[in-house]
Amino acid sequence: AAPMVIVGAGHAGVQVASSLRERGFADPIVLIDAQARTPYQRPPLSKEYLNGAAPDPAPLRHRQFYDSNNIQLRPVQATRIDPHARIVGLDSGEQLEYRYLVLATGAGNRVLDVPGADAPRVRYLRTLDDARALRENLATATDIVVIGAGFIGLEAAAAARKSGCRVRVVDTADRVMARAVSPATSSRMMRVHSREGVIFHLGRSVRELLGTGPLKVRLDDGTTLPADLVIVGVGVTPATQLAQDAGLTIENGVSVNEFLQTSDPDIFAIGDCASFPDPRATTRTRLESVQNAVDQGKFVAGHILGDRAAYHALPWFWTHQYSTKLQIAGHLSRSDESLQLGEPEAFSILHFQAGSLVAVESFNRPGDHVAARRILAGAEAPTSAQARADGFSLKLYAQ
Ligand code: FAD
Repeated sequence: AAPMVIVGAGHAGVQVASSLRERGFADPIVLIDAQARTPYQRPPLSKEYLNGAAPDPAPLRHRQFYDSNNIQLRPVQATRIDPHARIVGLDSGEQLEYRYLVLATGAGNRVLDVPGADAPRVRYLRTLDDARALRENLATATDIVVIGAGFIGLEAAAAARKSGCRVRVVDTADRVMARAVSPATSSRMMRVHSREGVIFHLGRSVRELLGTGPLKVRLDDGTTLPADLVIVGVGVTPATQLAQDAGLTIENGVSVNEFLQTSDPDIFAIGDCASFPDPRATTRTRLESVQNAVDQGKFVAGHILGDRAAYHALPWFWTHQYSTKLQIAGHLSRSDESLQLGEPEAFSILHFQAGSLVAVESFNRPGDHVAARRILAGAEAPTSAQARADGFSLKLYAQ
């Protein structure tokens, strides 16, 4: 049989291959990735790894796993898809025939587009090589400017503070992590950083970077910030080029249906590169999280093996900054009412839509997060009236 070909051996691609084998799929599997190393975990790269204490991040699966499961892991780049001939072209010149094709190509960093942004001490963070270079720079840097107050920017800011650097964070939005958390959580996380000594320039954009050695970052209000290292975390762009060249539909990522099939039903797209019709959200969704990559990987394996349900996994996410672990379950965009439960240093914010629970943000309350995931994935969520009653606990409700 022609093999199952998976392009991209990140969290999503590796999961499809593993789940297929776990569930007894016997045909050949070829997993290709332009990066030549054993696929690894990305989350540690912006967290403990940056402070120099941690070893390289753990592999997603050990090297022997691929051999013993007859998964051919190939360090090549896919350059072309011909959906009619069912062929993937590789940069080695080879043409690979496929039965099913999975695009799990992830995303690439958005580049800061201002004069001077190509200076050598301007760093991005996506791969192990990026993290290695950044870690090396952090060890000798004094003044750091982080551009972008999203998860990656703030995790990097926390690591830079731990390394003893002076840290300034710039973002065009007027609150941190604005795309992904509630306003209450933004102000809470900003307070955590401010307490640690981080200085924020919010509602400001970067006009230019001056110099090459020690840099100066000039903002739109004329302020100039000194920086011997600039870390840019201004978001990502889904890797859609292959799909687009093949004529597949693109819509904020490779567009897929409720079975995660692209406009060609034998080609699936999953993880950071794909946008899907999320029944829990009001619009087509593209998520950048390990949960999304892993759940979509499992789903596609199941679909190929005959499962017929539509994709409906609950989104969840975590970030770790200093000693604060923030975990989120559900879709915050739907929140029209919220309620905080717990202690000042360990609490959860429950979000409701039309009186019914839709999302929970937990600060150092992993038990609440686990309970929230169980509740939100199930049929019966508490109403805001139930949650406001004395003694209400997510953990007890979930039992
Ligand atoms: P990726 O993991 O990006 O893998 C895509 C792979 O495809 C890459 O290896 C790439 O080389 C390969 N590829 C692309 N095009 C081609 C081609 N044409 N030919 C061959 N290979 C190709 N998420 C969380 O939930 N929690 C966190 O705490 C968290 N922290 C993060 C920290 C960092 C520093 C980063 C960068 C991300 C973090 N994320 C976190 C996000 C999470 O890592 C991503 O959502 C996840 O990796 C997406 O998986 P993926 O398989 O879709 O893409």
